[in-house]
Amino acid sequence: MYRCQRCGECVARGTPRQVISSYRQAQHPVRKAAFKVTVIERGKRVTRWKDDPGGVGKQVAVEVAVCAACHRAHEENGDSSSEGVERL
Ligand SMILES: [Zn+2]
Repeated sequence: MYRCQRCGECVARGTPRQVISSYRQAQHPVRKAAFKVTVIERGKRVTRWKDDPGGVGKQVAVEVAVCAACHRAHEENGDSSSEGVERL
């Protein structure tokens, strides 16, 4: 059982939770030696460390639990905004 975070209505137990998420753009820095990789060189297994190149990606900014009716209304309105909620 949970309370809808949009309309405040109490949702019955066993009802699947509907979640609305908003995303923001996040920049991830370059990380040196972030991944351990095993390669085979001259017939032997050798451990090497690879860099994470970083880059730009999405990150969940806001996530709210809503009832089925609010979730349906949110999808029909098309306001499932996934951009520019916050800038890191
Ligand atoms: Zn609701």
